[in-house]
Amino acid sequence: MSESSVSVVKVIRCIVCPTGCQIKAISKGSEISFEGYACKRGLEYAEQEYYEPKRILTTTIRVENGFLPLIPVKSNEPILKDRLRDALNEIAQAEIKAPIKMGDVLIENILELGVNIIASRDLGKH
Ligand code: SF4
Repeated sequence: MSESSVSVVKVIRCIVCPTGCQIKAISKGSEISFEGYACKRGLEYAEQEYYEPKRILTTTIRVENGFLPLIPVKSNEPILKDRLRDALNEIAQAEIKAPIKMGDVLIENILELGVNIIASRDLGKH
């Protein structure tokens, strides 16, 4: 009995296209393989999601003199999931001034990740 045990360690739903394939990450010994993807883009998505999951960050930033006290913002690229909390902490320290245009870069290169935090709407002065 020297066979390595095989087990499903994660099930990932591919969101690259509407088909939504369920992709299984399978562990055999020290190896991970993927099953259930219908195309190469799905395999790439599953590998990214398994080894380095990323998410678009959405939150708000305080605006000093804005028509509203907060402006919704988002990252212009996905951020590694394990850096989201640090990014949110940095954003929580920020305070910006109106007027702001949708798409303005409000925080450049956050945490030196090569990602900008941008305004999700216009916001005028009060
Ligand atoms: S694996 Fe391919 S076909 Fe399946 S959901 Fe992902 S992109 Fe679509």
